[in-house]
Amino acid sequence: TDVFLNGQFLPLAEANVSVLDRGFLFADGVYEVIPAYGGKLFRLQQHLDRLNSSLAAIRMKPVMSDQQWTKTLSQLVSPHTQSDQSVYVQVTRGAGTNRDHQLPTEYSATTFAMCQTIDPKSLDSIANGINAITLDDIRWDWCHIKSVALLGNILLKQQASDQGCTEAILLRDGFATEGSASNLFIVKDQQLITPPKSHHLLPGITRDLVLELAIKEGISCIEQEISEQQLFDADEIWLTSSTKEIMPVVKLNRQAVGNGQPGNLWQQVSTSYSQFKNQLRNQ
Ligand code: PMP
Repeated sequence: TDVFLNGQFLPLAEANVSVLDRGFLFADGVYEVIPAYGGKLFRLQQHLDRLNSSLAAIRMKPVMSDQQWTKTLSQLVSPHTQSDQSVYVQVTRGAGTNRDHQLPTEYSATTFAMCQTIDPKSLDSIANGINAITLDDIRWDWCHIKSVALLGNILLKQQASDQGCTEAILLRDGFATEGSASNLFIVKDQQLITPPKSHHLLPGITRDLVLELAIKEGISCIEQEISEQQLFDADEIWLTSSTKEIMPVVKLNRQAVGNGQPGNLWQQVSTSYSQFKNQLRNQ
């Protein structure tokens, strides 16, 4: 149950951070969530690349080499060969000597990582289909950065939850961009559509993998903006993320999506996704 903090492995109860940490005061930091199946880190290089681009976008340097990250995170998940874990990684700009908006010229980053068990039962229940609602995206214009400033995402998710829904699908200027904590796909006439990467959505690692797998399955795929109307007319709607995998949306704004059941293409791609995971597990 050890966590990693600034170069050391230590018990969670002993992992302390200053109240002057800029992560605490300003949400001045970024994060990653990396699944580990049977102790094997999933798409680690892609997650490390995204971590480093998030850091660069907030004017921070990489805190460790990819090799050091690989060693650290492998050590963190090594006791968990019998379960699936999500590894949380957070890097903030560290603590200054007082509270000051101005970026410090010198800083010592706070680097933290811990594991949490992924409950297989929650994935089973997601496979039956989830409900979603559409909401206007109230977040800022730099959603491509995996920032720890998640208040917008949290409040949107809560609005969905208040209405008995698992996720909120976000609308910006009449287009559906992503979920509050997931990327968006729709199926229309056997074609898979996902919005192109932009500053209005997070470049999801699962999104990229789902596209890869769908192409391998011979499914026609396009990256194209999805209008609100296209969303309501979709045959299938999926929301993807590292820990929730591919969620089939069966109700949108209380209306059935397609026939109200997880769709055929969802079945096909989600089977392929499970096989991909198992290959890693058995490596
Ligand atoms: N968009 C947002 C806003 C998210 O928070 C997440 C998951 N953290 C995603 C998309 C999905 O990204 P990934 O597939 O890399 O987990």
